[in-house]
Amino acid sequence: MATGGGWAPARSVERHGAPRGGGTRSKSVAPGLRRPSPSPARSRAATDNGGSADSCRVRVAVRLRPNNSEDLAHGSDFDSCVELQPESKRLKLKKNNWSCESYKFDEVFSENASQKRVYEVVAKPVVESVLEGYNGTVMAYGQTGTGKTYTVGRLGKDDPSERGIMVRALEHILSSMSFETDRVAISYLQLYLESVQDLLAPEKTNIPIVEDAKTGEVSLPGAAIVEIKDLEHVFHLLQIGEANRHAANTKMNTESSRSHAILIIHLQRSSRIKEEKSSLSNDMHDIFPDDLPLVLKSKLLIVDLAGSERIDKSGSEGHMIEEAKFINLSLTSLGKCINALAENSPHIPTRDSKLTRIFRDSFGGTARTSLVVTIGPSSRHYSETSSTIMFGQRAMKVVNTIKLKEEVDYKILYKKMEREVDQLTSEMERQQKLIKSEKMQLDKKLKESEGSFHDLRMTSNIRIENLEKEKCELESTVKTLMRDLEEERGQKNMLSEQIAELEKLLDENKQQQLENLSRTKVLTDTTKEHEKKMEELLRQLQEERHCSSSLKDRMSILQQELCDAQSSTQESMARELEKKLTEVTEEFTCQVQSLKEKISELISEKEVIYKELKSTQEKVQQEMWQRQGLEDQILRLKQSTSDNFAEESKTSDCMVRTGSGLGNATFVSKSGKIREALSGQRGTISKIFEEVGLPNVLALLKSEDLDVQIHAVKVVANLAAEDINQEKIVEEGGLDALLSLLETSENTTIYRVTAGAVANLAMNGSNQGVIMNKGGARLLANVASKTEDPQTLRMVAGAIANLCGNEKLHLMLKQDGGIKALLGMVRSGHADVIPQIARGIANFAKCESRVISQGHRKGRSLLIEDGVLTWMVANSTRFSASTRRHIELAFCHLAQNEDNTCDIIASGGIKELLRISRESPRDDARNLAKKALDSNPAFLREVQ
Ligand code: ADP
Ligand code: MG
Repeated sequence: MATGGGWAPARSVERHGAPRGGGTRSKSVAPGLRRPSPSPARSRAATDNGGSADSCRVRVAVRLRPNNSEDLAHGSDFDSCVELQPESKRLKLKKNNWSCESYKFDEVFSENASQKRVYEVVAKPVVESVLEGYNGTVMAYGQTGTGKTYTVGRLGKDDPSERGIMVRALEHILSSMSFETDRVAISYLQLYLESVQDLLAPEKTNIPIVEDAKTGEVSLPGAAIVEIKDLEHVFHLLQIGEANRHAANTKMNTESSRSHAILIIHLQRSSRIKEEKSSLSNDMHDIFPDDLPLVLKSKLLIVDLAGSERIDKSGSEGHMIEEAKFINLSLTSLGKCINALAENSPHIPTRDSKLTRIFRDSFGGTARTSLVVTIGPSSRHYSETSSTIMFGQRAMKVVNTIKLKEEVDYKILYKKMEREVDQLTSEMERQQKLIKSEKMQLDKKLKESEGSFHDLRMTSNIRIENLEKEKCELESTVKTLMRDLEEERGQKNMLSEQIAELEKLLDENKQQQLENLSRTKVLTDTTKEHEKKMEELLRQLQEERHCSSSLKDRMSILQQELCDAQSSTQESMARELEKKLTEVTEEFTCQVQSLKEKISELISEKEVIYKELKSTQEKVQQEMWQRQGLEDQILRLKQSTSDNFAEESKTSDCMVRTGSGLGNATFVSKSGKIREALSGQRGTISKIFEEVGLPNVLALLKSEDLDVQIHAVKVVANLAAEDINQEKIVEEGGLDALLSLLETSENTTIYRVTAGAVANLAMNGSNQGVIMNKGGARLLANVASKTEDPQTLRMVAGAIANLCGNEKLHLMLKQDGGIKALLGMVRSGHADVIPQIARGIANFAKCESRVISQGHRKGRSLLIEDGVLTWMVANSTRFSASTRRHIELAFCHLAQNEDNTCDIIASGGIKELLRISRESPRDDARNLAKKALDSNPAFLREVQ
């Protein structure tokens, strides 16, 4: 038999529309006769393959029962009034031999149709639809004894081929569902005399039919719902139901039941919305999670109706009639509803009977419904068969709007959500803790950073202050160095001058030497002449000797001749000759004598000349040595001068660099080198003067020539710079000469250099007393009042400052006007003068403080009377760092003497003392200031 056309199961399910609140969405595609009420369940409409309007029409098949024994018994009287045309799904109903009607059904089953085929064609599509979540109804309608129970309720426990729709449907469902996620349960009821009874729990009678006002869903809340596990369980339950089913024998068929049997199969399947997520609207995405747990809840009603035959025909009586009335009431009501639905009537009388109320969803509702109408072949029951066929024909016109019902499984969803909330809560707590700890860490870091930033700022401020102080100090040092350099230059110039002088001396020496040379030459020439003369004289002497010998010879000859003459008588002649001889002899002797005298004269003259020559040669030699020595010294001086120049330029460079903030060490060492060079020069000078002799140099101090005087003073000043010379100069009268220059000279250079020399001599402790005793302080004060030349003032101040360092001389120094003069030089304001003044005051204050602390003296400071204290208080912060330190120290020393207290307070020195105790860069000054402040009650009172 064909299964196509309208009997094909609705496999494709379309989901449409938006939810209508409460997590429900519902969309109808086919025009239903009853509008569904809003439901918490999510419903969706479905159509058949064709998607046409009648795709959800109630399907109706006809099943013809084979002739039974009764039919066969009446076979001769009544022929079969039914003829089936299965190929065209038509049925011909013959009223008589002349009248015949043809009806088309969805399927026609002949008497040979198997239970299996009937199930597959009629019930299977509905069961599949139920498995997909739609409600379904399978129902048998027909005259008593036509095979309704056979078709629907046959158990076929032993013969599976006999099994009816109920067993097969449950078999089908059990094999299709999953026991892990799905559940199937049944209720088995019968409607008898308008009372609903529970076939599984017969004590439950008159079970109410409840309709949900919102959804319109019909339920029987009193009925037992038994969950099915397997087929055996199914058989067991159906057997119980069967046993409980009230059956009444009728005349027509003793086996037929008079009640309507209703098997309700409850199916619940889990589903996930995931695969259809894309069809959900955006707000649905927000409401439902990705894998929203859904359950498909569907119901399958398998109904074995009571017989539809007329009461009279069924032969009911008494109670039976009453029973038949109720039977027909329900069936008549069902027929009316079908009629109304088929005719699209606006009113469907579903409330007229319990049967129609229970079937509310099956006809004109949302369920997929299949109806099998059973007929017998016998023409004896023509009219019943005809009315059954007409019922089927009308039912075919009823259109249902099937709907899928999905419900959110709130239990699972709740559990899932609860789990997620728990997870999120713990995650949130974890995050909060993390954030808190991070925040704490960040706060800590921030605090640390702020602290270190503050420290850094403080440190940098202190460093900047220190650097500035250092810069000031360096500047003052540079200034001092520049000054030193200037001084060195002055000294160098002096040395150059000395060299020039020495060179001049050398020139003179050379001149003298030349003269000596010419004298030597003359001497040599004279010597040579003398030698020649001597040679001549010797030669003459030789000749004379020769002549004398010849004369001797002649005399002997003459004596011979005389003898001969005597002998020969020529005595007269002999006498004459003798006379002559005597004369000649005398003459000769005279001559010899004079020659001898001449010779001895010449020899003595020669000796004198030799001596002279020797002494001249010695002198020349000595002068040459002297000249050699002088030349060497000049060379050395020149060498040291040029070294000094190189050193100076290096030092200048160095000072420039030092000024830009480099370290002190280099500077100090370079400065040391200058000093070395200088002391080298001084050594050279002193060496020269060792040779020349200090007295000679000192004698030059009294020279009429100013230049000579100046040079001499410079030399002495240089010598006085060396410790070893200082006492010597004083001893040899140098100090007297210098002081006399200070007194008598009117020349500034003399003043400056002499004051420098005195200052140098005043460095020596034993000289200081001598200087003072000789009125040095007075003379220096006098010079200070006479000149405005800063360098002279510097020398004078330096000299007085040195004298200030001797406490024994303090009183004399003050009386001689030294302190006044020292303070008076402040008027110069020159950066070279002020430091010397400050140094002097500091020296004085320090020594005075020592003497007072040792108890050797008492009373207020000698400095105060001359206005030094007032000046210090007024000017302590005005000058360079080193000067300031001298002043601060001096002030602190004064503050140690309690006899100065009143003066210090009066001059406003407390403020200054406080300032020094806090700000002074020198520890000793700060300590002294603090000591004074702490130990002097008057100060303490003032401070408070
Ligand atoms: P109904 O329930 O309609 O009153 P039943 O199902 O009780 O009728 O059937 C009456 C009798 O007819 C039963 O004995 C049943 O076995 C038999 N019968 C019904 N239909 C068939 C059929 N198609 N093939 C064989 N026997 C049938
Ligand atoms: Mg029956």
